[in-house]
Amino acid sequence: MLSRVRLVIAAVLLACSSLFFVQQLQDKQKKELATENKIPIVFHEKYDVAFWGIENLHPMDTKKFGKVFNYLVKNLGIEPQRFYKPEKLQEHELLKVHSQQYLEYLRSSHAIAEIAEVSLLQFIPNFLLRWKLLTPMLYATSGTILATQLAMEHGWALNLAGGFHHAKYDQGGGFCFYADIPLALHKIHEKNPDLDILVIDLDAHQGNGLASFFKDSENIYLFDMYNTKIYPQDIKEARETDFNVPVPFGIHDEEYLSTLKRELPKTIESVKPGLIVYNAGTDIFIQDPLGGMNITEQGILKRDEFVFMQALERKIPIVMLLSGGYGEKNAEVISRSLENLLNNHLNWDK
Ligand SMILES: [Zn+2]
Repeated sequence: MLSRVRLVIAAVLLACSSLFFVQQLQDKQKKELATENKIPIVFHEKYDVAFWGIENLHPMDTKKFGKVFNYLVKNLGIEPQRFYKPEKLQEHELLKVHSQQYLEYLRSSHAIAEIAEVSLLQFIPNFLLRWKLLTPMLYATSGTILATQLAMEHGWALNLAGGFHHAKYDQGGGFCFYADIPLALHKIHEKNPDLDILVIDLDAHQGNGLASFFKDSENIYLFDMYNTKIYPQDIKEARETDFNVPVPFGIHDEEYLSTLKRELPKTIESVKPGLIVYNAGTDIFIQDPLGGMNITEQGILKRDEFVFMQALERKIPIVMLLSGGYGEKNAEVISRSLENLLNNHLNWDK
């Protein structure tokens, strides 16, 4: 009797362990499939700035990147392994777009405090600021480079961060430390020197950093639509912008979208770009504390859809970067707009 009980127990144990191993194997296969079956969306968990609460001194929601990622995983059922993960950017790479002097300037806490617009940061040791604040920016910059290359291969790509459009060769500003877009385009031009590129900057703020880089470029063009009454009001760079489209403070959906629909298609037709970089700041949102515009969530959804359709219909590769957006609801608005693009317009293996 005892031996029969032992036999039954052994059989049950064997069955359970076999089931466990089959489950493990299935999970592993699923993971491998997801890893192979990637979507051109770039994200790294290090994008979010976590600084023991100090990050809350700036109105920016520094966790918005992770929130958007979580939304796409949860609501669209995209396995985390299907996202591309950038490597941390090596600092020497920055010398392609920044002066040595500027990079050394960032070794002072005062400089970082000034660019981040949080004066208290000047009292924090520089190594801590570099670790907690600049490291996420290095990942985001690397993400923009990767996403731009992916757009050339796949026709479209998203970086769930980036768009630091105020950074200049020897100067940062407005929470922008590194010129991610100029660096990404520098790398594209290393492979395709003759490629014409159009950068569409629809962040609420003027992309004065981008203008400073591209004014002397023969084949990078800047279309910049922004609120003239807020930072940086860089009139010198506005004069040098190829397609400068200032809009009034407090603009609403109808006027905003009709201006975009009037100005953008003819710009694309005149440039005939081989790549579009879309700096899709959501600080135009009505609840954003800094943008000074009154665009609704539906307006942002229509804006993003319109820009993407302009590129997709002409078969022009497009890469989108999140750029500015400082309210609590910005992550939600971005997420729902990306959901609309991914469900209705972008080609990917669901
Ligand atoms: Zn902005």
